[in-house]
Amino acid sequence: NTFAEIDLGDALNQNIRRCKYVKPTPVQRHAIPISIAGRDLMACAQTGSGKTAAFCFPIISGIMREQYVQRPRGARTVYPLALILSPTRELSCQIHEEARKFSYQTGVKVVVAYGGAPINHQLRELERGVDILVATPGRLVDLLERARVSLQMIRYLALDEADRMLDMGFEPQIRKIVEQMDMPPRGVRQTMLFSATFPKEIQRMASDFLANYIFLAV
Ligand code: AMP
Repeated sequence: NTFAEIDLGDALNQNIRRCKYVKPTPVQRHAIPISIAGRDLMACAQTGSGKTAAFCFPIISGIMREQYVQRPRGARTVYPLALILSPTRELSCQIHEEARKFSYQTGVKVVVAYGGAPINHQLRELERGVDILVATPGRLVDLLERARVSLQMIRYLALDEADRMLDMGFEPQIRKIVEQMDMPPRGVRQTMLFSATFPKEIQRMASDFLANYIFLAV
């Protein structure tokens, strides 16, 4: 029951050691093997449960193996392989910071985009390349409308604090975002939905966005 026993790839395992994570938290212990096995997941997880690593590790590990994937080179459009949606700027920045630590020397590039801040700096970061995009829904819709981001190559989608995103009125934006991933040509998308609560709206989102998923309550 240690991270060393889970083969996430040498570089990632080393970063996990560097972060001094030894024992997986309950949500990590269950969610990571499910995701590594390729299954969709809906997980009940509170802040402080270690959910960030629970969705970051399988994504980074998977992308380390898939970086060779040929991506189109649009003039100014970038094609991330993974998308992490979160409700607020603060949470997005926090996820970005953690994901960057975990992806150190893996070759996996993480970029963050959130609203309420000038877009130019974010556009410049995106232009330098992105494998994992961490974003708030409103800013991402803006980037999609400007054709600066395409979701056609997305392999991994994580929705963090899904209940809070719905409370904040982001459901239309989230649906618009997921619709773009469903446009052909698309490979197999793996989806992870994290939420502290499970009202009807979240259950509907799960049945709309996830395929044959495993429900995890820890
Ligand atoms: P989170 O719920 O993802 O926001 O994580 C809460 C805090 O716990 C963060 O400061 C993490 O860095 C830390 N953390 C997450 N997983 C572990 C772990 N397996 N061992 C030690 N600390 C962890």
